[in-house]
Amino acid sequence: MRKQIVAGNWKMNKTFSEAETLITEIADALDDVDLKDAEVILCPPAIYLEMATDVAFESNFKVGAQNIYPEDSGAFTGEISPLMLKELNVTYCIIGHSERRKYFHETNEFLQRKVDALLKHHIRPIFCCGEVLPEREANQHFEVVKKQVQESLFHLSMESFLDVVIAYEPVWAIGTGVTATKEQAQEMHAYIRGLIAEKYDGSTAVETTILYGGSCNGKNARELFAQPDVDGGLIGGASLKPDEFLQIATSF
Ligand code: PEP
Repeated sequence: MRKQIVAGNWKMNKTFSEAETLITEIADALDDVDLKDAEVILCPPAIYLEMATDVAFESNFKVGAQNIYPEDSGAFTGEISPLMLKELNVTYCIIGHSERRKYFHETNEFLQRKVDALLKHHIRPIFCCGEVLPEREANQHFEVVKKQVQESLFHLSMESFLDVVIAYEPVWAIGTGVTATKEQAQEMHAYIRGLIAEKYDGSTAVETTILYGGSCNGKNARELFAQPDVDGGLIGGASLKPDEFLQIATSF
């Protein structure tokens, strides 16, 4: 059965000492909770990944990066490769976040290369997709998400696709305090699962973890995660607050 996941996207936050404190607090708290079968992933800024994987070695969470460049090495000043992450025991990587699409102009085609570069090193992509508000208001949200998923993921073989985690993140819900309703989240997650079933098969669709992201917090996580096609969350702001993040991680 597919994995339930709560992943914390720290974005560009925390100094090294603050990051160390936060990771340690979360690791300690995880020792005392029952996650059932859920997996917790922390995605701190890249320069804290080694510290995070050191702590994770003796704790109950996995570590994800927030970005990679889709080459193993080369003249790409400032970039980080999946090969480097692999050696650090980083097992997940967020790609296609709306902030990277917006500020760094990442296209579906470029994200396809990132997916391939990660899978080559057995790092699981957490592939973000989602519509902006005018697209939802124009009732184009299904088409937008379909195009993102098709153009970045549907070149994969069935076997490779099974290593991908999808995160549906309506852009209008990210960092705004406006969460998608449980009905809106369920409707889109079921739609994405349907696309996967059509492209691959029913069992691939059933096995794919689809997370919800966008102003998910300690109060709304339980009702969102209770939806049949919502398998957990990608958490931004609330992942920086250990108590709230733990509350979300135990909301299954
Ligand atoms: C995100 O940036 O992936 C996210 C879900 O942010 P927030 O939870 O703050 O809306």
